[in-house]
Amino acid sequence: MDLRRLWELHEIDSAILDIRHKAAALDGGKAAMEKLKKLEAEQEAANSEAKRINGEMLDLELQQKTHAEKIKKIDKELYSGQVVNAKEVMNLEKEIEILKRKISELEDQQLALMDQIGPAEAKGKKFEPEIQQTKAEAAAKRKIAMEQKGVLEAEFARLNKLRPEAAKKVNPPLLTRYEAIRQNQHGIGMTKVTKNSRCGVCGTLLPERLIEAARKDQAVTCEECKRILYYSEGLL
Ligand SMILES: [Zn+2]
Repeated sequence: MDLRRLWELHEIDSAILDIRHKAAALDGGKAAMEKLKKLEAEQEAANSEAKRINGEMLDLELQQKTHAEKIKKIDKELYSGQVVNAKEVMNLEKEIEILKRKISELEDQQLALMDQIGPAEAKGKKFEPEIQQTKAEAAAKRKIAMEQKGVLEAEFARLNKLRPEAAKKVNPPLLTRYEAIRQNQHGIGMTKVTKNSRCGVCGTLLPERLIEAARKDQAVTCEECKRILYYSEGLL
């Protein structure tokens, strides 16, 4: 009778332990979140490369504009009729030529960058589908984990409420012994005798005298794993 009551307590403790393990193993989408972070960083790197090229192109355009304005100014000077000295005219024309050459060089550089901008932008965009997919995956995993967590918490609360009542029914010295074993044996303080005369937890073959004692409601333990043996007619 004593052992039967202790077994009932043990079943509650086992169930609580099981919930703890399940809660610890819940996948809240951590791996998916880490993957997402990595993808976003790669996308960011590709995008900043595109940004850099865009900035460079803008700079080239501004330089061209400055040169073009200068040319315009010199042209105006040339056709104003105020410059009459031939050497001066020649110098101004030479200056225009130099500026035009510079503009042409800048245009070439711009064209080369234009070829780069497409691939750079495409590289950033390439990450988008996987990012979206990973985001959805992380959210789905998180949702499922939250639901499972809720179920486990409710069951945990229910069992914890049952436990004091079940513990009260066990005689105190036996309860103390059980608790000590439980602490040393990873939370499991009791084991069933199987129909093959083995310990239900560690599988050790049990001597007949121990099985007999357990059958007589004596608190004896498995020699190997030190857990209290429980013998019931409905053997495992
Ligand atoms: Zn054992």
